[in-house]
Amino acid sequence: MANKRLIALKAFVSRKKVLTEENTGNISDYFGDNVFNDKSMQAYLSTDAYAQINELIGQNKKIKQELADQLAFGMKKWAMERGATHYTHWFQPMTGSTAEKHESFFSGTLAGGIEEFSGNVLIQQIPDTASFPTGSVRATFEARGYTEWDITSPAFIMNIGAGKTLCIPTIFVAFDGSALDFKAPLLRSLRAIENAALGVCNYFDRNVTRVVPTLGWEQEYFLVDAAMYYARPDLVMTGRTIQGRRPAKGQQLDDHYFGAIPERIYSYMREFETEAHKLGIPLRTRHNEVAPSQFECAPKYEDANLAVDHNMLLLDVMDRVSSKHKLKVLTHEKPFEGLNGSGKHNNWSLRTDTEKNLLSPGTTPRTNLQFLTFFLNTIAAINKHERLLWAGFASAGNEHRLGLMEAPSEVISVYIGSHLRETLDIIEKRIDEDTFGEQENLELRLDLHNRIPSIMVENTDQNRTAPIAFTGNKFELRSIGASANCSSILIILNTIVTEQLHVFKNEVDALIKGGDYKDVAILKVLKKIYKENKRILYEGDNYSEEWRKEAKKRKLSFISNAPEALEALVAEENISLFEKHKVLSKKESHTRRDTFLKNYSLSIQIESRILGEMVLNQIIPAAADHQNKLLKTLKGIKELGLDISKNKLLEVLSEISQHINVIIPLEKEMAALRKKAREENDILKVAKLYNKEVKDIMKEIRYHCDKLEMYIDDNIWPLPKYSELLITT
Ligand code: ADP
Ligand code: MG
Repeated sequence: MANKRLIALKAFVSRKKVLTEENTGNISDYFGDNVFNDKSMQAYLSTDAYAQINELIGQNKKIKQELADQLAFGMKKWAMERGATHYTHWFQPMTGSTAEKHESFFSGTLAGGIEEFSGNVLIQQIPDTASFPTGSVRATFEARGYTEWDITSPAFIMNIGAGKTLCIPTIFVAFDGSALDFKAPLLRSLRAIENAALGVCNYFDRNVTRVVPTLGWEQEYFLVDAAMYYARPDLVMTGRTIQGRRPAKGQQLDDHYFGAIPERIYSYMREFETEAHKLGIPLRTRHNEVAPSQFECAPKYEDANLAVDHNMLLLDVMDRVSSKHKLKVLTHEKPFEGLNGSGKHNNWSLRTDTEKNLLSPGTTPRTNLQFLTFFLNTIAAINKHERLLWAGFASAGNEHRLGLMEAPSEVISVYIGSHLRETLDIIEKRIDEDTFGEQENLELRLDLHNRIPSIMVENTDQNRTAPIAFTGNKFELRSIGASANCSSILIILNTIVTEQLHVFKNEVDALIKGGDYKDVAILKVLKKIYKENKRILYEGDNYSEEWRKEAKKRKLSFISNAPEALEALVAEENISLFEKHKVLSKKESHTRRDTFLKNYSLSIQIESRILGEMVLNQIIPAAADHQNKLLKTLKGIKELGLDISKNKLLEVLSEISQHINVIIPLEKEMAALRKKAREENDILKVAKLYNKEVKDIMKEIRYHCDKLEMYIDDNIWPLPKYSELLITT
């Protein structure tokens, strides 16, 4: 029998160093080289066209045909000079990855040809998209959609081997304008929150004309040797191991975290970072993570839309570069049972066009009041919509991670640290006691100026168990899955903060109308907000029994499964919320919930089928082989005339038989459950069936397979073991 595992091990051991490292020099020398950025626009566009497009980007407006033609001309010239032969509209369908269909610039006949690229094809394309998930949109409308250039995200050149393609970031919508992707609703949510935040911002500063959410993500991932990856059908097909005994040494010693990066990994990191830098992705940090073979990288934060694109782009680059290094990058949320999974922290804030961070405590009483306003309104939004936030975290992969000891718990709470907590308590108390005359007086009496800067001394990032933490000048959302599109949570966060800022402004305006000074009105409303929303604040250990009890008392939601979480997308009040702020129509909300539910069921269906194949094609045959070996040995002993009735090998034989006897009927049962799911029309019922029955039976099968792994001859066992997968040096 050709044992793929042994072949893979041999390849791994004899692996030569893949890369001859180049010294790439200063990052600033090549940063953004593959991006049609401001510098290239200046060089390749007329002064007039450059000014026009800059103005449009600033105002986020549609582009006219004539200007589009000029842009396309400049862009083509720029791209072709850098060796690009093709272009593609690059978009983010609801599958969670990115999509592209390459078209050649070349257009020719027998008589010859030319390279073409017009404004029309720059702005809009109609890809053949019949097989992208469209949820219920497909049922009622034509499945085809079109992609449309997002001028706020610059075009870039993607290198794949020696091939170079000009990529144009686009939204992807159906013919009736319904969003079929993550970007279209994200852009709408950015517009909504900008409007709402401007209204509030202008209480404090009339010079602000733009407010933009910022995002800084931190990406966790695993690396495994490519040969061993390819010897595991589960890794290849699902991104995670659905069988595998825990290694004797896992992460018990915590010796991997922040340890020295192995050379092979280091050389991989350097290469994908260089590619990323050329693409304008401002990567800055790299380090080992908690689990063996787990790592993290993070860029400097950017405007949210660009940061999301850069994260999706980086996942792509990391994957391609890993193959080159004979490694495979795993961005699944839970590649290995018994080890920490991978998440993606989303650091979120709001910046103004006057370059102020609205969540950064200020140096004057006025800026502190502005800080408190955005800070408390965000907390209020999270508290009021904690259930909806779960919908932004939900996926089949993330379900393996959340609520377990390693990752944020299944109850949403916000950690703000004791200093801010005390400041808020003082505001609450003092405003009750005081009657306010003049506003200067008020600021002095509350002493905000002296209270708030002291927060910055304390690092608020200590509590790693909180799903959301305020870390000095931004909120850090930690529950998002490593493979997720950051937009899935940002669309929701932006929308709920939008709603809350409108509520806040209405209340403040009403008080001002009633005769209150502006700052007095603001503080009064802030005090009320704090009082009404502090149940979401928690400073302790989110895994303690005490918090579970307390969270129940506070009536916070406990959500541990994705199908349940996704239902929030179609709750009446949430549909209205998204409609009100023009982020999602009712139909779009349903489409998304349907699509995500289907993706969920499909993921588990595939895992279950792969497990079935592994059991029948690899594990049972290996077990039977080993049984044969044992039988032969026993037979040999018997032939010598010795008594075998007390031989301990019989016990091993029986142990193996018992596991085989359990696995075979369970596999049948699992297949029957999939059939049951296929015959069910209600997608929620299907998802619940996968969530409970199929996942349970998979766990049971896994238990017995993992036991077999322990008993079977190492030379026969067909699948690379955890201890082998987790070595990457
Ligand atoms: P650490 O969490 O390791 O101490 P930082 O707090 O500086 O490091 O940053 C973590 C992430 O948060 C980085 O991606 C960083 O760019 C991002 N970040 C910092 N400031 C902001 C901000 N104003 N808005 C969004 N993200 C931010
Ligand atoms: Mg952090």
